[in-house]
Amino acid sequence: MKQPARFLLAGVACAASLLMLPAHAQDPGRALGGILRQIAPGLATPQPAQRAPATNDLIEMLSQSVDSIDEPREIEIGRQLASVLLGSKPLVRDPALQRYVNRLGRWISLQSARPHLPWTFGVLDDPGFNAFAAPGGYIFVTKGVVDLVDEAELAGIIAHEITHVTEKHHLKALSAKARSGVLTQLLASQVRTNNVVTGAISQQMLALGRDLYSSGLDQGDEFESDRLGVHLAARAGFDPYGLPAVLQQLRTAAPDNPLFTLTLSTHPPAQTRLERLELAMGSRLDAYSGKPSVAIGRRMQQR
Ligand SMILES: [Zn+2]
Repeated sequence: MKQPARFLLAGVACAASLLMLPAHAQDPGRALGGILRQIAPGLATPQPAQRAPATNDLIEMLSQSVDSIDEPREIEIGRQLASVLLGSKPLVRDPALQRYVNRLGRWISLQSARPHLPWTFGVLDDPGFNAFAAPGGYIFVTKGVVDLVDEAELAGIIAHEITHVTEKHHLKALSAKARSGVLTQLLASQVRTNNVVTGAISQQMLALGRDLYSSGLDQGDEFESDRLGVHLAARAGFDPYGLPAVLQQLRTAAPDNPLFTLTLSTHPPAQTRLERLELAMGSRLDAYSGKPSVAIGRRMQQR
């Protein structure tokens, strides 16, 4: 296998306990703009050609079909969902860590089916173990992830999330929710918190986003992201057993450990995911647990 590029310049992490959001501590729009200016100048504001369509139009399109959503609209939906995520947890104030995760993530995204998207990666200041993706190329991992995983494992997690984007899993889930009428119920039951989110995020998008990230995706989509994610990580030069190693850690995590609650509740059981991967990869994966590794969080402290 070719030598993986070394990305250990900074660290990573992101996650959000959306169900427990305090109404909020950080201006998410500004946070996203700030980090984008820091890590991706030029992406901080939508380019004129991508000027955001009205949110109501986006919801309307989502309720018709995914095919009616072109790439600029997909990116705008993702930007709004990223703001929803950042509204629950701020970014870690560590530019070196954020740069590291962006370099790692962009390298992997270049080997993906959609290398041209404006990929943006961030580490959320949350001790939980989570990762999130939003349409158009927004990927977040939590500080809890960065503190636990090594580089190959992080590459596996990011490749899994990138696959959710390239296969439009969230877009399809949002579309199904918008069509199902669940939106009306969500809006009726939700405390009005729109005033804490700045920018053009409608109550509808906020409700859809929160529902999506607390309920998770289709199990089939998760299996697909595991399978294609392992291939993607390998194509990018990383150990393909990074993701299986993470799943083995999840499998042995105490079910009542609050740090893993959201990940475990929004994904199929880790044991099932491992069994599906074994089928796809054609080998027993047990042998890969317990390998020596240094968590990224610790390596970053040693800088
Ligand atoms: Zn997933």
